[in-house]
Amino acid sequence: MTSLPPHFQPVACDEPGVYRTLLESTKAIPWRIDWATMRFTYIGPQIEALLGWSPASWQSVNDWADRIHEEDRQKTVDFCVAQSQQGVDHEADYRAITRHGEYVWIRDVVHVVRRPDGSVGSLVGFMFDITARKQAEEKILQLQRELEILSYRDSLTGVANRRMFDTVYPAQWAKARDTGHPLSLVIVDIDYFKQYNDHYGHVQGDECLRRVAQVLDTAASHPGHLCARLGGEEFVLLLPGTDAEGARIKAERCRKLLAQEEIPHARSGAGRLVTVSLGVGTIVPGAGDDPGVFLDRIDRRLYQAKSAGRDRLCDAEA
Ligand code: GH3
Ligand code: MG
Ligand code: MG
Repeated sequence: MTSLPPHFQPVACDEPGVYRTLLESTKAIPWRIDWATMRFTYIGPQIEALLGWSPASWQSVNDWADRIHEEDRQKTVDFCVAQSQQGVDHEADYRAITRHGEYVWIRDVVHVVRRPDGSVGSLVGFMFDITARKQAEEKILQLQRELEILSYRDSLTGVANRRMFDTVYPAQWAKARDTGHPLSLVIVDIDYFKQYNDHYGHVQGDECLRRVAQVLDTAASHPGHLCARLGGEEFVLLLPGTDAEGARIKAERCRKLLAQEEIPHARSGAGRLVTVSLGVGTIVPGAGDDPGVFLDRIDRRLYQAKSAGRDRLCDAEA
């Protein structure tokens, strides 16, 4: 065995005062509970700076349990008691209540000390203040949720994007198939939008897209109904629980609301205002039906509406 230089040699420390100084100068808060009586026999004085409760006020495990946030209390106590009874070292994260009624996140690391006969003699542990870490974790989760929401939105128009439609459409399809309720689709495409861009420029083209999206979103507004931008100047309304007549009314409402917006279009071949063409269809999906095939069928109706003169809807095969 290589011998260590003298200053690395472990030093026997028989001065209890040294241990106490060490324990009471760390940020972790040491404590000890006698298993037989379930009473604290020691808790570091640092506890008062952290939670406001004096060391003397920590008498029994009930004082500990009472100072746990009620949402965390039962599961924390149950877990720690079960682990201790089995003699298993463990750790628990919970919110502790301060004397001023605030909460501090604690990680309690618990070691079970056994007697020579193997029975549990006491529990010793350290409480760590992990509030900052928990707040950082919560912040990350919050950002992830926000990102999730943003990633389902079309950044230009603010309505749902293609990704959202691709997620929701199969789910609504399956639901309609299982319940036997009708499912309707309306695909909407702005007429002569290339000419609009050429004449007014892309910035105004973007503004026009936003306004059309708002109109369609308003028309779709109903619990469970979705308006999404499929791409370019093309949108879709997904209308679960809507029959053919309801879908036709909805599509006409889109045209009417857009007409009321009176967005000028000097180069349109379908009048003097921005207009849309719509493909409309309804299905009660059967086991042999396919959502992609149905979507293509409605898309063909959109092009029938285009060839028939635009600014209109088509809800049946020609
Ligand atoms: P139709 O009536 O047959 O639908 O003709 P259209 O001109 O609307 O269709 P076409 O597919 O020829 O042109 C679509 C245009 O949409 C072309 C493109 O410049 C424009 N466009 C697509 N996405 C955007 C966008 O995000 N912003 C703007 N400003 N224009 C876009
Ligand atoms: Mg178009
Ligand atoms: Mg198009």
